[in-house]
Amino acid sequence: MENTNEMSIEFDSRSCNEGFARVAVAAFCTQLNPTLEEVADVKTAVSEAITNSIIHGYEGEVHKIRIECKTVGHELYLTVIDHGKGIEDVKKAMEPLFTTKPEWNRSGMGFAFMEAFMDEVVVVSEPGKGTEVHMKKTVGSRIGEFPE
Ligand code: ATP
Ligand code: MG
Repeated sequence: MENTNEMSIEFDSRSCNEGFARVAVAAFCTQLNPTLEEVADVKTAVSEAITNSIIHGYEGEVHKIRIECKTVGHELYLTVIDHGKGIEDVKKAMEPLFTTKPEWNRSGMGFAFMEAFMDEVVVVSEPGKGTEVHMKKTVGSRIGEFPE
């Protein structure tokens, strides 16, 4: 389709790559003329998903994280993929304040933030196989709605 565009990146699950990945996704979505707030929302959601893959998925071991991005018109689709330990009960994991690592000072708010900042969040996970976090957000569609 003419108005679709895709980008994917794969990188080591090191926390030093989190900033890079967040900025790469933000740079890709600037094509849609997002507001600064929309860019900030997308960056926050991407950060939370990557941090989860690093901390929970791979538990500090270095493996690959993949981010797939697609734009269709003003819709931005993002998927963050790891092949780590996976999630037993996705519904429970997504409840605000639920964390399996309270001793690491995690607050259990990552998924809640992703849901707050993106329009849709769907998590597909299988224990022992890995986790995919699918997110969607409409960005840049309000440009032109207001007088300059
Ligand atoms: P916070 O994000 O506030 O630091 P948290 O990471 O524990 O805390 P969430 O991001 O909401 O909270 O995740 C909830 C729980 O879901 C985690 O504690 C973990 O058990 C599980 N989880 C999330 N992402 C993954 C993943 N990629 N692989 C394995 N388990 C995950
Ligand atoms: Mg988290």
